Amino acid sequence: MNLFSASQQLALLLRSGLRCRGCLGPLDRASEAGLCGGCWEGLLPLPELRCPRCALEHDPDQACPEPVAWEWGDAFWGYHGGRPPLGALLLPGIKNGELGWKKALLRRASAAPLPDFAREADLVTSAPATRLRRFMRGFDLAEEFGKVLAKRTERPWHPLLRKAWRAGRQGTRNETDRRRLPQKAIQLARRINLDHKVILLVDDVWTTGTTLLRCAQALKEGGAQEVRVLSIFRAL
Ligand SMILES: [Zn+2]
Ligand SMILES: [Zn+2]
Repeated sequence: MNLFSASQQLALLLRSGLRCRGCLGPLDRASEAGLCGGCWEGLLPLPELRCPRCALEHDPDQACPEPVAWEWGDAFWGYHGGRPPLGALLLPGIKNGELGWKKALLRRASAAPLPDFAREADLVTSAPATRLRRFMRGFDLAEEFGKVLAKRTERPWHPLLRKAWRAGRQGTRNETDRRRLPQKAIQLARRINLDHKVILLVDDVWTTGTTLLRCAQALKEGGAQEVRVLSIFRAL
């Protein structure tokens, strides 16, 4: 039984002198999960004139700076947006078990403006985590984001991809190693006919795009007609 109403809880919180875990300022009415309203406003959209495939700003006559194997690509927010940079604060925290942050972030992702291309896919899938990683964390953020999008677009979510055991943890690799993620590190989880399917491929953070590239290649090898990418965050 909850002994306090929401407003009483907030009053207690304000009086307790607890500080925002992002900026160390006072918590306010817009606070959620230990972060003040100002910090949550750090979910900033990407630049308006971005490339529709790589979501970066570049000369439209030039190729995308990183290889892309999909027709459309976008993200909700910049990873380094806000002060402190909110994506860079939230994602490592969530991966270390900050469930309040996860819930607050997914709630915002379920209300953020959706690009048109994301509405017209046949199905939704997520960039995979290794089984060990998923087991250790008890959840997979990319998968949960995929399910949020599947619900929003009323399309099915399918776990189409799996990461080979030896692909290792990306976080412990340096930039050069990440770019060298072996071709077969990501495979179709099972034999499935993807002929003529348009697939919305989602991830939590899109950095160099190597993981997404391997995912998109595996989907296309499986017969997918088109792959479209949507990520929660884009590191610019
Ligand atoms: Zn703050
Ligand atoms: Zn581009």
